[in-house]
Amino acid sequence: MSVLLLAEPDEFARQALTFARGLGEVETVSIGADAGLPVERSHVAEGIDAYAPAAWATALEEVIDRVQPSAVVAPGTERGNEVLAHVAARRDIPFAANCIAVDGDTVTRVRWGGSLLEEARIHSPLPLLSVAPHAVPAAEGAASPEVETFTPTLSESDLVAAVAEHVDEVVSGISLAEAKVVVSGGRGVGSADGFGILEELAGLLDAAVGCSRVVTSAGWRPHTDQVGQTGTKVSPDLYIACGISGATQHIAGCKGAKKILAINSDAEAPILASADYAVIGDLTAIVPAITAELRKARSP
Ligand SMILES: Cc1cc2nc3c(=O)[nH]c(=O)nc-3n(C[C@H](O)[C@H](O)[C@H](O)COP(=O)(O)OP(=O)(O)OC[C@H]3O[C@@H](n4cnc5c(N)ncnc54)[C@H](O)[C@@H]3O)c2cc1C
Repeated sequence: MSVLLLAEPDEFARQALTFARGLGEVETVSIGADAGLPVERSHVAEGIDAYAPAAWATALEEVIDRVQPSAVVAPGTERGNEVLAHVAARRDIPFAANCIAVDGDTVTRVRWGGSLLEEARIHSPLPLLSVAPHAVPAAEGAASPEVETFTPTLSESDLVAAVAEHVDEVVSGISLAEAKVVVSGGRGVGSADGFGILEELAGLLDAAVGCSRVVTSAGWRPHTDQVGQTGTKVSPDLYIACGISGATQHIAGCKGAKKILAINSDAEAPILASADYAVIGDLTAIVPAITAELRKARSP
């Protein structure tokens, strides 16, 4: 029996292909155009113009009914996880997200923002598995699959949620994901205006400014600045965490930093367990003091 892979033309689909090959012969399901993966057969759904999770799930389900695969795999991207969740809910079967390995009916998957590997047994007539990004190498090779196009039968409700418009992210200054230094602020910064002293320090260090989710939820900074499990994952040489407690969901986004400097008024704050350096005290005094020292050191 074959394995179906929901695929888009990207690196994550090639990683998921490597994983899926361990389960059987892979056929891809793509929406709009063939994803260009090195497989023997590709099913391409036509007539869906934009990303619409329920419509994609309907298209995938039609191929499942036709092919009767032994498993269905998708990349562990937001889209892959969302579409498989729709299929699982409709069929009332389990879905294991963010898997990195499978052995019989046992999957190993990434939990808690990467801080835990879980082994789970799946009891299902049709395992639905998404593959954690960057966990397995991408499959290489050019594609020349036999392409079968089809037009799924969609209902009105399949198109209720659909992408209406793409708006390019406005990145001013240094990108958070690529910055060598990140100056990040949490609730302890106190307000949107409180970020002024962090901006000033960041300017001197050619750094990007990041923040915790409390900060984006309060509207002090845009979501694009958020570091963490549901934000950007950063890997700078130095991550300066100002007034951030160090919740696991935040650490999931900054643990790739080579060094972490925590500035916190609480000597018991959990972030100190992850920090290489710490300054215990009020950030409104410490951050400007660092800035002043830097200016002094750099003045001729
Ligand atoms: C599903 C889920 C996903 C999540 N995803 C994310 C995510 O992607 N990113 C994220 O950040 N969070 C995320 N969270 C939220 C996370 O659990 C925490 O609530 C959040 O990170 C806490 O933010 P904080 O550290 O800014 O605030 P707090 O936990 O309130 O910490 C504030 C810190 O500031 C210190 N402080 C206060 N005043 C000062 C001062 N004057 N000087 C110095 N220090 C001071 C305090 O001692 C404290 O340590 C997620 C939560 C869930 C449930």
